[in-house]
Amino acid sequence: MAKNVLVTGGAGYIGAHACKVLAAAGFTPVTFDNLTTGWAEAVKYGPLVQGDLMNRADIDAALAEYQPVAVMHFAALSLVGESMKDPGYYWRVNVNGALNLLEATVAAGIRNFVFSSTCATYGDQDGVLLNEETPQRPINAYGGSKLAIEEMVRNFGAAYDLNHVIFRYFNVAGADPDAEVGEQHTPETHLIPLMLDAVAGKRDALTVFGTDYPTRDGTCVRDYVHVMDLVDAHVLGLKWLLEGKESRVFCLGTGNGFSVTEVIEASRAVTNRDVPIVYGDRRPGDAVTLVSGSEAAIRDLGWQPDRSTLRDMIGDAWRWAQKPAFTK
Ligand code: UDP
Repeated sequence: MAKNVLVTGGAGYIGAHACKVLAAAGFTPVTFDNLTTGWAEAVKYGPLVQGDLMNRADIDAALAEYQPVAVMHFAALSLVGESMKDPGYYWRVNVNGALNLLEATVAAGIRNFVFSSTCATYGDQDGVLLNEETPQRPINAYGGSKLAIEEMVRNFGAAYDLNHVIFRYFNVAGADPDAEVGEQHTPETHLIPLMLDAVAGKRDALTVFGTDYPTRDGTCVRDYVHVMDLVDAHVLGLKWLLEGKESRVFCLGTGNGFSVTEVIEASRAVTNRDVPIVYGDRRPGDAVTLVSGSEAAIRDLGWQPDRSTLRDMIGDAWRWAQKPAFTK
């Protein structure tokens, strides 16, 4: 019998890609999603439970029905800029949702938990390469809420033998190369899909947020990871836990930092089209540089992030952008 895995946020960007690779690896991904930002049409690889993490009874019912071997917790509010404008919303939804989920998970006797954390927990670290030991000092409410959940996961791990893998994502980009699922947010705020919308004429221009950062060309530097590589790491992390190995934190980045300007240049090469640009102010909450300096996932999990080139990420996102959008 296939093993069920509860995937919170399975109707969202990363969660839907995770469901695809979980199904390919022989698991049944059970999506738990309130569909506020996710898409029912993105749930293609297993059942959908429409429920809300703010409602403990919804979680209990899903766990009782599907008896998963593990929980993968993707569901969260995840926009840096929005978190600076409405921090209470971020703290309330992200932290309370995760707390309900953790309590329900241990109450149901489930022992394996995979959590989506973020490089936004590090804050501004003056250009250092970030690894699992780097002190975390978030500078926005999104990163703060994720760091709080990391602490909760560790506390529950210690108290209830909840084995866990915490992944700290760098900037996730790209789409399923088969274009069955892809990135779609309303409103969209992320660099690569906004840039490709501008390329396609769906918006007037891409606004570059800040050109006076202390980087090689004045724009922020990020470490972009292909979403398929990222979700592959989750399957490896799940197998790690199911083999009874110890709880760990892994950074998921490639160690290659690219500036906003370099991403735009790569897009010109991939699409053969110009990117209309306007230059704007810095976006509050943005760190200057976020680049991973860790090879732990490669070394210990056997992770191979070989699709995480700008060419593949932008190329797959561009192919996805040609498909009809999900509708509510
Ligand atoms: N960015 C930009 N214009 C946009 C959106 C993003 O210049 O319209 C920049 C942003 O300031 C950051 C980088 O692109 O330096 C990646 O931002 P994104 O929102 O994609 O991811 P984040 O780093 O916030 O997770």
